[in-house]
Amino acid sequence: MNKIEVLAPAGNLPSLRAAVDNGADAVYFGFRNATNARNFEGLNFSEKEALEGLRYAHKSGVKANVVLNTFPQVDQPDIWYKTVDIAAKIGADAIILANLALLKYCREKHPDLPIHLSVQASASNYEAINFYKKHFNITRVILPRVLTVEEIKQLGSKTDIEMEVFAFGGLCVMAEGRCYLSSYVTGVSPNIEGVCSPARAVRFENRGDKLQTRLGNVLIAEYGADEDAAYPTICKGRFEANNRVYHTMEEPSSLNVLEMLPEVIEAGVVSLKIEGRQRTKSYVGTVTNTFRKAVDAYYESPEKFRPKGKWIKTLNTTSEGATHTLGTYQEDWQ
Ligand code: SF4
Repeated sequence: MNKIEVLAPAGNLPSLRAAVDNGADAVYFGFRNATNARNFEGLNFSEKEALEGLRYAHKSGVKANVVLNTFPQVDQPDIWYKTVDIAAKIGADAIILANLALLKYCREKHPDLPIHLSVQASASNYEAINFYKKHFNITRVILPRVLTVEEIKQLGSKTDIEMEVFAFGGLCVMAEGRCYLSSYVTGVSPNIEGVCSPARAVRFENRGDKLQTRLGNVLIAEYGADEDAAYPTICKGRFEANNRVYHTMEEPSSLNVLEMLPEVIEAGVVSLKIEGRQRTKSYVGTVTNTFRKAVDAYYESPEKFRPKGKWIKTLNTTSEGATHTLGTYQEDWQ
């Protein structure tokens, strides 16, 4: 029986090595520019580092996918096309794309490079997925985090394209690939510049015994001495509404699919994606290691599989807000 893949994030070479050393079957990473949606200062790969990372992964039989999931801009599209060429040149196992022009370019220029359809393409029904297969011969779709497990199962019965789902990590309130919240405050959005809270717009300021975080000129949250301050994003800000200060859009919490692992595997999913290219190598190592153990335990004895308390506890130490959710996977609304 083919095991479901554990797919780990790599924001840099040390994280890539941590993923490989902790049992990932595949890793994914992006280049140091606006072509991927984790374009944070100090993160990502040069061409030389990508090659080194690829060699390290391949030595252990681990696949390495290149992420190119933002949208080319009219004034400087070349960097996106060049990055497709670099991914092909270094021998990536797959390229993750969302934009139609890039899909066309990649398919025509690099017919042998497998294409995974990015979550940013928001393909959540089989007609859309089969359209991308017909026109661009994609081999895999990364499903948006808006589906129930039952819907994923139904999708799988109507397409022969591999399905990858998010298994763990930070959640956005956006419909995948459609967030412009930060544009109003910073002038950029993840779809264009690959980042919703660029470091140049972030400020941490002490005011009396409080710590304030700001994005642009907007106060995102105020923390007391006993609280850990989060990196400011608009969607997870604590704002005042109805005379109350609270997370008005989204409580910080991480997706964690462990409790539904059997259902997800049995729905026909081939890959479990761990979110977090912006996180540390220790996060990558810990989460990859825990999912490796859980997946192996499932295949040893599927009917006896139960998520262990210590796995959940370990994962919660790495979660946003130290809590987890099954997101839409278990919703009973459609
Ligand atoms: S602002 Fe929030 S919802 Fe929008 S992309 Fe950033 S993290 Fe996601």
